[in-house]
Amino acid sequence: MMSSSSRPLLEVSGLNKWFGAMHALRDVDLTVGVGERIVVCGPSGSGKSTMVRCINALERYQNGLIRLEGEAINADCDSVLGARRAIGMVFQSFNLFPHLSVLDNITLGPRKLLRLPRPDAESAAMMLLSQVRMEDQARKMPSQLSGGQQQRAAIARALAMNPKLMLFDEPTSALDPEMVKEVLDVMTALAEAGTTMICVTHEMGFAKAVAHRIVFMDQEKIVETADPAAFFAGDCCDRARSFVGTTA
Ligand code: ADP
Ligand code: MG
Repeated sequence: MMSSSSRPLLEVSGLNKWFGAMHALRDVDLTVGVGERIVVCGPSGSGKSTMVRCINALERYQNGLIRLEGEAINADCDSVLGARRAIGMVFQSFNLFPHLSVLDNITLGPRKLLRLPRPDAESAAMMLLSQVRMEDQARKMPSQLSGGQQQRAAIARALAMNPKLMLFDEPTSALDPEMVKEVLDVMTALAEAGTTMICVTHEMGFAKAVAHRIVFMDQEKIVETADPAAFFAGDCCDRARSFVGTTA
């Protein structure tokens, strides 16, 4: 997957984060190569969101280092905008701009940050909308869409910046069950197209199908990094095994 001579896309080493006195991440290490797909799971409050938010420079960390293509990322360093531009993020709660149409949501970043002329940004956006099977929804406002459609639009918006890495933080956990599949199908297609991704999700079928590695977090740290086949066969720590049992 990653030749020994090439530098990994993302390197997280010795990451520690506190919210005030609360230790939220302990000694987190994670290396992600180009084209790798990582699924992160673990109980609520274990630090999954905090980890991906640090990677996307949405949270400051106090200790350790996150590097994207060798460049240090932290929420208070000069490289923040570059890092956010290079990393696409999809949240649990869609987070589309409510006052903009689907098309304008998708073209905003490319037009303002990449200085793409509107026609070019719009034709690229229409291609992305067809990729997420939303080409007939371009002129709608977010409030006119179902949750699954909003999430697919949010994925298209993130992809419009042509990111090197996609982060997903429980992208289907706010959706009604019938909409989960349409979002997972889009994510699976992205995986098949070779997109580098870190997905926080408890959709274990998805994890089994697409992940190269499963990262299990508990109590502010990564307690297990496993091959999916081994992980789901129960060849993992007791804590992870009992967690997987609860999601099955
Ligand atoms: P997960 O995504 O695994 O459910 P989080 O990363 O959201 O966990 O949270 C990890 C811990 O950090 C939790 O105890 C949570 O309450 C705490 N936390 C998260 N965000 C903040 C914040 N902005 N301020 C204070 N504590 C926070
Ligand atoms: Mg979370």
